[in-house]
Amino acid sequence: MPSESIREIVSRNLAEVQGRIASACDRSSRSAETVRLVAVTKYAELSWIRELVDLGQMDLGESRPQQLAARAAEFPGRVQWHLIGHLQRNKAALVLPRVALIHSVDSLRLLDQLEKEAQSLTLQRDVLLEINVSGEASKDGLAPADALDLADRLQRLEWIRPRGLMTMAPLLDNPEGARPFFRRLRELRDELQQRAGLPLPELSMGMSGDFEPAIEEGATLVRIGSRLFSGLQRE
Ligand SMILES: *Cc1c(COP(=O)(O)O)cnc(C)c1O
Repeated sequence: MPSESIREIVSRNLAEVQGRIASACDRSSRSAETVRLVAVTKYAELSWIRELVDLGQMDLGESRPQQLAARAAEFPGRVQWHLIGHLQRNKAALVLPRVALIHSVDSLRLLDQLEKEAQSLTLQRDVLLEINVSGEASKDGLAPADALDLADRLQRLEWIRPRGLMTMAPLLDNPEGARPFFRRLRELRDELQQRAGLPLPELSMGMSGDFEPAIEEGATLVRIGSRLFSGLQRE
């Protein structure tokens, strides 16, 4: 029997993930258009990414700024790039022209640097604040109380547009275990939105192992990598 092509594997995985997103939306009485799939390509080969893009998957996420910049050059104009990993301040100017959304703003200093660089590049950009909801020492992200303290700063940004919050739940065997962390992110968003007097519609939460409870708790962006490329081996 001939082995399956990359196209067939990626196409089947994508359809499976889209189907599970649609079912989770159904269960929570949301329309499927309210959830955007960000395909995380950090461990993917270019040939796999090309298949995804050919299949119409235009939102792609990378966790490293240099890799995002290199890959953005491979898909000029077609793809919306999302930075989902830690951003050092000295990489702000590298990333800003190439991204649609930065999910991982994890300090006031980074937010200030982005505002400054965005102004000098005359680029308006959307960002999310990354929150360390679980309080694990190994995780990046603002403590919830520190995020609430940024309410005034968020109001005064001119170039950077805060659009919501992002989190990673702890890695657990059971996806249901992640649910309380997603709920907490939504509640924090509600509170920050009120304090800052700004709309913060986006919640970036849910990965391959836990995107269904995330959607049921209000995710508008799910970041999925390994599930989309399962069955493929890197060269
Ligand atoms: C790698 C990564 C993902 C995707 O993880 P999978 O388990 O492969 O779906 C999502 N979010 C962030 C921040 C990541 O670094």
